[in-house]
Amino acid sequence: MLRIEDLSFWEKSVYFENIDFLIVGSGIVGMSTALFLRKKYRDANIIILERGYLPTGASSKNAGFTCFGSPTELYDDLKTINESEVWETFANRYNGLKCLFELIPSNSINYVSCKSWDLIESGIKNEIDPEFIGYINKKAKEITQIDDVYFEDKKATKRFGFDHIQTAYCNQLEGAINTGMLLQEMHKRTIEANIQVLFGVEALSMSSNAQGVILQTNKGPIETSNCIIATNGFAKQWIEDDINPARAQIIVTNEIKNLKVKGTFHFQKGYYYFRNIGNRILLGGGRNLDFKGETTESFETTPKIQKKLEELLRFTIIPNQEFSIDYAWSGIMGVGDVKSPILKMLNKNTAVGVRLGGMGVALGSQVGKSLANYF
Ligand SMILES: Cc1cc2nc3c(=O)[nH]c(=O)nc-3n(C[C@H](O)[C@H](O)[C@H](O)COP(=O)(O)OP(=O)(O)OC[C@H]3O[C@@H](n4cnc5c(N)ncnc54)[C@H](O)[C@@H]3O)c2cc1C
Repeated sequence: MLRIEDLSFWEKSVYFENIDFLIVGSGIVGMSTALFLRKKYRDANIIILERGYLPTGASSKNAGFTCFGSPTELYDDLKTINESEVWETFANRYNGLKCLFELIPSNSINYVSCKSWDLIESGIKNEIDPEFIGYINKKAKEITQIDDVYFEDKKATKRFGFDHIQTAYCNQLEGAINTGMLLQEMHKRTIEANIQVLFGVEALSMSSNAQGVILQTNKGPIETSNCIIATNGFAKQWIEDDINPARAQIIVTNEIKNLKVKGTFHFQKGYYYFRNIGNRILLGGGRNLDFKGETTESFETTPKIQKKLEELLRFTIIPNQEFSIDYAWSGIMGVGDVKSPILKMLNKNTAVGVRLGGMGVALGSQVGKSLANYF
């Protein structure tokens, strides 16, 4: 393995000398930070380090929902989090999307404003009543200026062909993107902005002084004036704050003829989520079946959760329909007891932006913008 000290004059001078900003992690946050830094500093030398041969966390593995709050999620959050924080998070997610589209035009990542439905299963007490829908519509209007963001859609079950669902609540503003296209588009734009992304370089430890930061990596030490940690679920090694890795598993079916399911859907208070990708269904979730086991940095799928996901397809989402599973994978999120990201300076020249939970599509670019504004 060639170490940085053995590189040529040319390689060292282009990639490893006089670095103004060194960003660790090439997910949505890392790449957004780099792009916003470029808007601010035309001539700065900006480098992103990524330990995987692709971005290897959550940004290239997620479901692609541009979601900012389903009724049952809001209902639950309001029980445990104070009201102003709940609506601040809603506003950050809603406005965060605008920030994403400021960087990456929505049509280049197949954004569709397809709406979302929050499904209430049969046989349970439905806690969402018209009064609560009235309340969340009033709050949502204060943020979005749009009337009736939420409404009960009693015909959804029949229209989409579901089984064992008593009713559904539609959020008319949520939508979906193509996750692969987002990462590819971000990468393309970093290259165009003369930002280097170095894959296969893992940051191991860091020390800093008044002049800057020295980052030890698996390829040798790198000096930089400023450093930004954007490693989300893998951030525990850098900070003492409340952050843990949280694995999330996903399956995608084969192409299904005459698929009725079109849009994005939340189920069982957001523990499950699904959408169509063309004529396929992408379904994820089930962390609640094994919180302890899913608190891990290991990219694996488990029979317990995969079986539950398949059952949901068979009995609820596409009942009485033949299907097979063409893809199964997992990704790692960063979570804590509270929902908001950790966003702060660690010292004069090091910033951190992590703990995006299941909200990074909407929040990631806004976090990147805030990180860039620290410098
Ligand atoms: C299965 C799944 C489904 C999801 N669905 C949605 C959704 O529908 N909507 C939504 O809004 N959010 C969703 N999320 C959450 C969302 O994907 C994340 O919040 C977001 O991608 C976080 O972006 P990030 O840049 O902070 O982190 P990441 O994308 O995890 O990026 C961190 C990067 O840092 C790199 N790295 C880590 N340590 C080091 C190191 N020491 N040296 C170098 N590189 C390092 C990793 O390889 C990784 O590429 C989902 C997440 C998962 C896992």
